[in-house]
Amino acid sequence: MVVVEGVNKHFGDLHVLKDINLTVGKGDVVVVLGPSGSGKSTLCRTINRLETFESGRILIDGKPLPEEGKALANLRADVGMVFQSFNLFAHKTILQNVTLGPMKVRGMNKAAAEKQALELLDRVGVQHQKDKYPAQLSGGQQQRVAIARSLAMNPKVMLFDEPTSALDPEMINEVLDVMTSLAKEGMTMIVVTHEMGFARRAADRVVFMDEGEIVEQETPEEFFTNAKSARAKDFLSKIL
Ligand code: ATP
Ligand code: MG
Repeated sequence: MVVVEGVNKHFGDLHVLKDINLTVGKGDVVVVLGPSGSGKSTLCRTINRLETFESGRILIDGKPLPEEGKALANLRADVGMVFQSFNLFAHKTILQNVTLGPMKVRGMNKAAAEKQALELLDRVGVQHQKDKYPAQLSGGQQQRVAIARSLAMNPKVMLFDEPTSALDPEMINEVLDVMTSLAKEGMTMIVVTHEMGFARRAADRVVFMDEGEIVEQETPEEFFTNAKSARAKDFLSKIL
């Protein structure tokens, strides 16, 4: 579903992605771990083409990333992305936040978009907030709306970049629960997170990055009990 082959990227002199190779099959849940500055966000942004890269290739569902125009808009819809900050449209209601993309990019009519939006808002547990504005919701509720908004585009893969790290502790689980059920339902997901419980519970594979490289990738059991590299062991000793 997502194939990253030999991708390199620099920010000026900084070699931020070093020969990245990653294959994420349909329905796979890959959790990306690594220290701050290791390139996790840049990798997500590159897969979504929010960043350019210099060499290598990235295929989504067998097709290379488009450069611009309608094809790029469609790619962004196929690759849902949920960030640390919720990025909802502040001046649109919750319902409008979820209907806008499908109407604009997918050409869905209003009635169909609203029907779908209400189902998705129900699925993430915020249907009763549909007529409010983002600022009137808690962080956890806003993040669940952000997930619903991405799902409304019927994405082929969902990227999550630290979706819970801006949330108060009591709201983290309500978002992780939605993500866990998505994972169980077979969504293809790439998740950057510091939530090791989620990684153990939901990941098929853990990818450990350090200094722009994928240092190792294996099952969560293997990673948490038997990490191979010194760099991963050092990382684990600091967080566990
Ligand atoms: P964190 O865990 O703190 O979110 P990360 O693994 O997501 O870290 P990235 O945000 O991908 O790391 O950053 C990787 C490196 O690239 C860092 O050294 C960062 O300072 C640098 N970097 C990121 N974005 C830019 C940019 N737009 N311009 C220049 N350097 C950047
Ligand atoms: Mg980051």
